[in-house]
Amino acid sequence: MIPQKTILENLRTYDMEKIAIATLCSHSALQIFHGAKLEGFRTIGICTPDRREFYESYPRARPDVFIEVKKYSDVLSGKVQQELMEENAVVVPHGSFVEYVGAANLEDEFQVPMFGNRRSLQWEGSRKKVREWMQKAGCNVPKEFKKPQDIDTICIVKFSGAKGGKGFFLTTDERDYRKKMEEKIKQKIVSQEDAEHATIQEFINGVRYYYHYFYSPLEKDAEGKRGRVELLSMDKRLESNVEEIYRILAAGTLQELNLNPTYVVTGNAPQTIRESLLPEVYRIGKRVEEASQKLFGGMTGPYCVESVVTPDLRIFAFEISARIVAGTNLFPEGSFLSPYLFGEPMSTGRRIARELKNGLKQNALEKLVY
Ligand code: AMP
Repeated sequence: MIPQKTILENLRTYDMEKIAIATLCSHSALQIFHGAKLEGFRTIGICTPDRREFYESYPRARPDVFIEVKKYSDVLSGKVQQELMEENAVVVPHGSFVEYVGAANLEDEFQVPMFGNRRSLQWEGSRKKVREWMQKAGCNVPKEFKKPQDIDTICIVKFSGAKGGKGFFLTTDERDYRKKMEEKIKQKIVSQEDAEHATIQEFINGVRYYYHYFYSPLEKDAEGKRGRVELLSMDKRLESNVEEIYRILAAGTLQELNLNPTYVVTGNAPQTIRESLLPEVYRIGKRVEEASQKLFGGMTGPYCVESVVTPDLRIFAFEISARIVAGTNLFPEGSFLSPYLFGEPMSTGRRIARELKNGLKQNALEKLVY
């Protein structure tokens, strides 16, 4: 893990008048660039040649500078890192950035200042740690089973990393678990190692909500204390093929058709939630932030809690992302909540840039990057 001291030393070599916001051209990059431009920052897109045309096609979100790489992991090369630092770049990590480059590589090899606390990547990348974190935050969490022999209810079997739901399956007992797991390994959908480390979790039946929060160490909360949690928006992920599997049921049951639901993320849909549940959703965001302070020095900027709301209106949290999530792409002009915080359109991408701008004004950039 590169110490924060080293990153801040690199930051001190920057020309503060010319700070640029950089990210990989994927995931939520359009939103990040768009928000950065609105706040007056120069923008840098790290891009593979096949994607460049697309990112050039949106003038209001097109990065001012392109750094072309053959593959995204090349961002770790000395040349690209040097170029980014010469451009005074603060990098905004997003889900694809972490997935393509690898959290451990970012922590150990990436010298360029990043927005937020890079220590959080270790935590969000481990299901065990996320569970500890959610429990410390007092969230309701689904039951987990250590061994397949213990399964006594409908369970979802999940694999590690942000693989977008790949290979996940539902099961009801040990025999079914072993049969399905063997098939997944045989079809090379999951590796033997993934299988050994699979999480067997109670399937929570209800409606899924993914809440988008932002933590600002610079703003004050409602009680006047430093540090503010903002609930900016929420979405629901669209996952294939579970989302529309009912459409095939006219041809027979899932068993008859030998079909299993799959959970690969293909997109996102906007959501609102009953106003009476919003105070609890807000408290969850606050407690998750407070727990992160105790566990690893806190998060700065965007994060997301994934949940299911059950018919008795309980909220079960099953995952945390400690960075911008793609569901925020739905709200480039703000959401149904952001107007109550800001008198202008405010996306999560713009909120990041606004925080950096405030950090620069207050000479407090060092609180925002690692
Ligand atoms: P995850 O990798 O934990 O984000 O899970 C991927 C997807 O699987 C989620 O977006 C949900 O649709 C589904 N999922 C995960 N855990 C649960 C759970 N405990 N109960 C119901 N659905 C779940």
